[in-house]
Amino acid sequence: MKKGDAICSECGAGFRRLEHTSMPPSRGEYRCPACGMLLEKFDGTAFVAYRLTIHPLVREMRE
Ligand SMILES: [Zn+2]
Repeated sequence: MKKGDAICSECGAGFRRLEHTSMPPSRGEYRCPACGMLLEKFDGTAFVAYRLTIHPLVREMRE
């Protein structure tokens, strides 16, 4: 399992990014839940999970 961090360049939200090779690969893309910015297009080689860790300054999101 690979771990990493990602930051949305648009709104500053921070994410923990986890990559699991033992799970079915992700397809499609992941967008920032706060502003909709494209963070990653999945290439289908690994399962990728994002978790929001730093909320953006602009609070428009609702969970
Ligand atoms: Zn964002």
